[in-house]
Amino acid sequence: MAKTKYSKSELKKFEKNIYSKMNDISNNIEAVRSTTSSNSSVFLENNTEDHNEGTEAHEVEKSFLLMSRESDYLMNLKKALQRIEDGTYGLCEVYQNDSTKCECPDSPLIDKERLLEVPNATKGVFCKQKKKLNLV
Ligand SMILES: [Zn+2]
Repeated sequence: MAKTKYSKSELKKFEKNIYSKMNDISNNIEAVRSTTSSNSSVFLENNTEDHNEGTEAHEVEKSFLLMSRESDYLMNLKKALQRIEDGTYGLCEVYQNDSTKCECPDSPLIDKERLLEVPNATKGVFCKQKKKLNLV
């Protein structure tokens, strides 16, 4: 029988990894936020002189885009923490929906290396690929 769950100590390791990623993201968001607010004040001052307007607006827009992407990631990591709590963390989503359809090499578990790299992954690489091709 293949393992259908990661052990407590493995889950602890994943959890630690997720927390450290969340920390990085919060720092990133904070950093972008502080540069964005200083940029916006520059933008407002410059605006009256019709100077550099497009570039500044573009920079602000880019920062907001980055921030929303980072906060999406943060939300997905929070969901991952919830899955650790629920005991479903690391299980391929395709397997959970239909256990016969998952053909991940470590089925039903998502590869450990992948989880450490992409802690918010919900499918194994194999199933993700299949999903992309609409085979699942
Ligand atoms: Zn799978």
